[in-house]
Amino acid sequence: MRLQYEQLLQEIREEFPGFRIVRKVDSWTQRAIDRLLRVLTFGAQTAYLDCYQTTIRRTVYVTEDWERLSFAQRYITMRHEREHLRQFRRYTTPLMALLYIFGPLPVGLSWFRAHFEKQGYAESIRAAAEVHGLAHVLDPAFRAYVVRQFVSGSYGWMWPFRSSIEVWYDSVITELRAKGVA
Ligand SMILES: [Zn+2]
Repeated sequence: MRLQYEQLLQEIREEFPGFRIVRKVDSWTQRAIDRLLRVLTFGAQTAYLDCYQTTIRRTVYVTEDWERLSFAQRYITMRHEREHLRQFRRYTTPLMALLYIFGPLPVGLSWFRAHFEKQGYAESIRAAAEVHGLAHVLDPAFRAYVVRQFVSGSYGWMWPFRSSIEVWYDSVITELRAKGVA
């Protein structure tokens, strides 16, 4: 997978001049966001620095263990983050930040955040199927993990309507099947 990962990074660099990867722990703004999220989610999101990769504008902020993750893992994650890089380009940074954080509510009902993350996670699902096979994304545990991102405090309960997220997940699978992914 090393080759595929490096090739993906090369494509991203070409598509986004100025693209960079920065460790969250090395960024004081990321550490500040971490503290803020703990407060806003009433302690439900304490894994921001350690478990989540985050794209802002043309920078992907990564966890401290990033370089130790498998190339397959990094490839799948970077496919997700590329969607966010494209969103920042499409909407511009101020609008993207505004919609992502406040659209329409910061917690509990964040239609835009869910919309942006659906694009990201759809790409995670596609990349995971490409790397590990369709059976991997058909696994109920993987599906439950993705659904949980939307309905739990991980992203501030961005769209806590489980059945609608499950319908969306299954539509991504249908699309993969239609393309002949096995
Ligand atoms: Zn995302």
